[in-house]
This record gives sequence, structure tokens and C-alpha cells, in this order.
Amino acid sequence: MRAQGILGGTFDPVHLGHIQSARELCERVGLERLSLMPCHMPPHRDRPQTAATHRLAMAKIAVAPWSTLGVDGRELEREGPSYTVESLAALRAEVGPQTSLIFVMGSDAFNSLHRWHRWQSLFEYANILVMQREGYPLLPAADVAKYVAGREQRAQALVEQTAGAYATIALTPWPQSATDVRARLAAGRSLDDCVPPEIEHYIQQHNLYRD
Ligand code: ATP
Repeated sequence: MRAQGILGGTFDPVHLGHIQSARELCERVGLERLSLMPCHMPPHRDRPQTAATHRLAMAKIAVAPWSTLGVDGRELEREGPSYTVESLAALRAEVGPQTSLIFVMGSDAFNSLHRWHRWQSLFEYANILVMQREGYPLLPAADVAKYVAGREQRAQALVEQTAGAYATIALTPWPQSATDVRARLAAGRSLDDCVPPEIEHYIQQHNLYRD
């Protein structure tokens, strides 16, 4: 069965935690492709600081060296809030019923899943894989915990199921966060390898995150 992963997020900006985790996921879970899917306007958090065009451009630059990684820009083409469930429904219609779709999120995102629009319906279109992110123990809301309990599988088993399953995975920890990258830039501090050099160059060239 073909298996395709999607990592949703703000990517404001993309950093090494995203890229290294995505690469490791492809290898360990057996994904043919994993696409970063930047959201236009996240319904659950503050608006991104940076224009969609810059966030998309940086995501494309960051994945370019890796043949298994890609970028899905569909949420930036839609006006209004970015609802993951709508994106996954569109993606499912594109790939057909025979492909395993795996929506990936960090444990921080998973812990607030109960606030997402039609969160149960995500499982109609895709499997959910949660990366255990350092500093964010898995603490889903009670109704989410109950909903996923009967769906849990090994992460490697998700590629054999088109949708509806849930798994967690502990990857090599990457401590980077976009919040930290923005704070470093605003304070004029060094980025210390938080982002690939091409992204640091792009940020400097476009004078992003300075105010
Ligand atoms: P911010 O600091 O602005 O909240 P972020 O660094 O969490 O941003 P997002 O774009 O929100 O970046 O992340 C997209 C997805 O990647 C989320 O599911 C998030 O949990 C996950 N993620 C982000 N950073 C890491 C990391 N260092 N390791 C593993 N997963 C990560």
C-alpha cells in the first residue's frame, strides 16, 4: 500500500526540529513521502507573524535537499481559517481510497486536539501519528484519550491501514521551536544551528522577525 504523511503547522519559520523529525519518520515508519502543510490562518493559536508567502518559500527551501520530503501549499490557497479536516478530505479525494494517509502532529498539538474543528472526522480520512515532543508529555483531553484508545497500533502498522488508526512514536529529540527561533532573532542572538543555513540566509535577506 502506498503511504503518504502530512505534517501540518505554522512553520513560522520552519526549523531543524521539523526537518529532522520528518526525515526520521519517513525512514522509521516507511513513508514514501511526507509533506509539510503550512496553514494559512491557524484557528487554535495566534496568527503567524510572517506572511504566508515567506513561510511557504522557507518550507520549500528546507525540504529541497530531501527527496522524500515535500510541501503541500493547499491551505495557503484558501481564504479563512485552515481546518485540517477539510485539507485531509481534499487530500483523500485526490489519492483515492487505497493510500495510507498519515497525519503527523507533535504531542503539544495533540494535547489540544479536542479544540480542533470536527477532530473525530480526521480519522475518517487519515491515520494520526503523534511524535512525542520533549517537554510535552502526552496529556490529551479525556474524550480524545477515550476516542483513540481502541484505535492504537504500532507506528509501523499505520502504513498498512488507509485511515482510522492512531499511534505514537518517540523520535530522536530535537529541542528547536519556532518560538525560540523568533525570540533569538528579535533579540539579535545567533541562531546556533536551529534552522538550516539556507533558511537563516532567507530570513536575513528578507529581514524577517526583527520587530
Ligand atoms: P511555535 O514555537 O511557534 O509553537 P513550533 O516550533 O511548534 O512553533 P509548528 O509549525 O507549530 O512549530 O509545528 C508543526 C508541527 O511540528 C506540530 O505538530 C509540532 O508539534 C511539531 N514540531 C515542532 N517542532 C518540533 C520538534 N522540535 N520536534 C518534533 N516535533 C515538532
